[in-house]
Amino acid sequence: MSPPISGQTRLAGVIGWPVRHSVSPTLHNAAFTSLGLDWVYVAMPVPPGSAGAALAGMAALGIDGLSVTMPHKDAVAACVDRLTGDATALGAVNCVYRDDDQLVGDNTDGGGFVASLRRDEDLDPSGMHCAVVGAGGAARAVIRALAVAGAERVTVVNRREERARTAAALAGERGRIGTEDDLDRVDLVVNATPVGMGGDSGMPFDPGVLHDWAVVVDLVYHPRVTPLLAEVAESGRRGVGGLGMLVHQAARAFERWTGVAAPIEVMTAAGREAVS
Ligand code: NAP
Repeated sequence: MSPPISGQTRLAGVIGWPVRHSVSPTLHNAAFTSLGLDWVYVAMPVPPGSAGAALAGMAALGIDGLSVTMPHKDAVAACVDRLTGDATALGAVNCVYRDDDQLVGDNTDGGGFVASLRRDEDLDPSGMHCAVVGAGGAARAVIRALAVAGAERVTVVNRREERARTAAALAGERGRIGTEDDLDRVDLVVNATPVGMGGDSGMPFDPGVLHDWAVVVDLVYHPRVTPLLAEVAESGRRGVGGLGMLVHQAARAFERWTGVAAPIEVMTAAGREAVS
């Protein structure tokens, strides 16, 4: 149990717009409680255009950790004192931590994605031919992380080709752009579009074209079983939901702020309870 909130309690939170629906307070507060840490984590609605003011507030108020979600990830990258290598490459920040009197912007999405595959699924993308459908913020983090993790090739499929080209460049020589026709030769395919989210019955691609052994990861985590994952399961292929990435990117932020190893199992259980 965490001690009661007092003058010693340290504050972390998430900024976004909208943000009241965020699962992050559930994950982080479950982790603080399970380790008995005197921290609390809250959701802070910050309207578009106010990321700079929010960061100045973080510095002035002594807030010790910030998660950053849409629409502020790019704007925060321009306001912090320093960026990590991942945040520099992606031009986007999802986590801010303090280093002495500096605010440092990091991006834990890609590392969290690969950690969730390795730790939760016993899947190593090293040497795999991977495809990412989508070319937005989540896709970009995943594309770079797959290349860093040693994927042999990362094919990016997106409805707007120019965005696919820019995103594929994040994988360096291993990145290329492709179409749905290329999905019949991949080992791992990631849905990084919002298709299938929150009651949408759409499919981002036809899983019927995949090899029997191909693994499908859907970054959408609400609902936990998306229409894509339901069809993948029906065809006997392996599907992985987006909750693992959500938990592991949060765990990395937690470790940046507290210096303590994150209780992954506790955070996963809290996430499962929060997302049906
Ligand atoms: P984003 O920056 O807005 O990018 C969305 C991408 O999806 C764009 O490439 C867009 O194509 C494409 N897209 C959108 N609607 C589409 C449609 N109807 N058909 C085909 N393509 C479509 O969004 P994001 O932040 O990357 O998030 C994408 C998804 O990942 C969301 O569902 C989000 O919840 C999820 N996510 C999960 C995690 C996690 O931890 N599990 C983390 C981050 C995000 P264009 O480029 O052509 O516009």
